Amino acid sequence: MRITGDQALVKKLNKSIVLDTIRRKGPLSRTDVSEKTGLNKATVSNLTLELIEQNLVEETGLGESSGGRKPLMLLFNGSAGCVIGVELSVTRVKAILTDLKGTILQEHVLPLGQLDEDAVFEVIGKVIQPLIDAAPQTTHGIVGIGIGVPGMVDESGLILYAPNLNWEGVDLKSRIEEKYNVPVVIDNEANAGAAGEREYGAGRHVRHLVYVSAGMGIGSGMIIDGQLYKGAWGYAGETGHMSIESDGRLCSCGNQGCWELYASERAYSYTSLPALTTAERVEQAKVGDASTLEMYEEIGRRLGIGVTNLVNGFNPQKIVVGGPLTEAKAWIEPKMLATIAKRALPYHRRELSISFSELGSRSAVLGAAHLAVAQFLGRVRVSV
Ligand SMILES: [Zn+2]
Repeated sequence: MRITGDQALVKKLNKSIVLDTIRRKGPLSRTDVSEKTGLNKATVSNLTLELIEQNLVEETGLGESSGGRKPLMLLFNGSAGCVIGVELSVTRVKAILTDLKGTILQEHVLPLGQLDEDAVFEVIGKVIQPLIDAAPQTTHGIVGIGIGVPGMVDESGLILYAPNLNWEGVDLKSRIEEKYNVPVVIDNEANAGAAGEREYGAGRHVRHLVYVSAGMGIGSGMIIDGQLYKGAWGYAGETGHMSIESDGRLCSCGNQGCWELYASERAYSYTSLPALTTAERVEQAKVGDASTLEMYEEIGRRLGIGVTNLVNGFNPQKIVVGGPLTEAKAWIEPKMLATIAKRALPYHRRELSISFSELGSRSAVLGAAHLAVAQFLGRVRVSV
């Protein structure tokens, strides 16, 4: 029988729907999969057989019988391959080796000195090589590398602009693909963080999520109706440059009164306090230093103002605040929550949940790893 390109495409889509359903909701019987996907049982059986042959799905135990023979249950096999997740920040490169379910097998971090492309490329190599060497033998091996970067990334994975690294038009993806010979996916660190929280953290089962990453700046990853929203060209989420003061502080982006100048680590440089890192300031806050406490309360209030704008604009089910500034959560959160409670529209506020990241400093690196997993699972072959 000849199979047309359209039929092959439909089969590939169906196969990825079956795999995704088993991955998210398993263990399931073939009948469960058929009911949940709306695909007929014969199709589910054929596709499941292929997935079992590829070792991505395994049969396990016996499920509840609804009368006849007890069905075998289907489970996603997270151990069929590995990925590497990388988070590139201005000060360091962090990487993890995970299985296909996001279980962290190894982690490695190195500080960054020089920020030029060649130097950063070299440090990334030093961070990921030990992880590649440590990867267990699996059916599919290392199936991808996902990287979260502090900048704007276009649809092809080109880093268009990363102001804090002083990068423009950097094709890190091709360089890494050439060197390691595995597919690479690159995204903005806020998008990676949103993916991480949605898959493994505070955003599980949430269809409308705004993840706010607060660190050296602010960026947001927006999950709308279960999908990461990237805008027309991939630049959505630059909420740090939303004005919260119409004639406020001048920003390097050209705008004035940008949110991140008041509500991220960038706010530190507008106080008369000594130049310290967040970790050092947290120590000051712990011993009750009055000006540090006052500064974090003000950052909390300003965070709350920007989050209010996002809540009113997007009507999310959940807001998750992550990134390095969350180390100061204890002193930021009360004012942030009070500001949102006072200012957000009442219908928007109803049933809205606001939390800090569950994955702590690992949201972006786990999200980056997940982007690589998702890309691999989307590519799973079909036989026609
Ligand atoms: Zn700006």
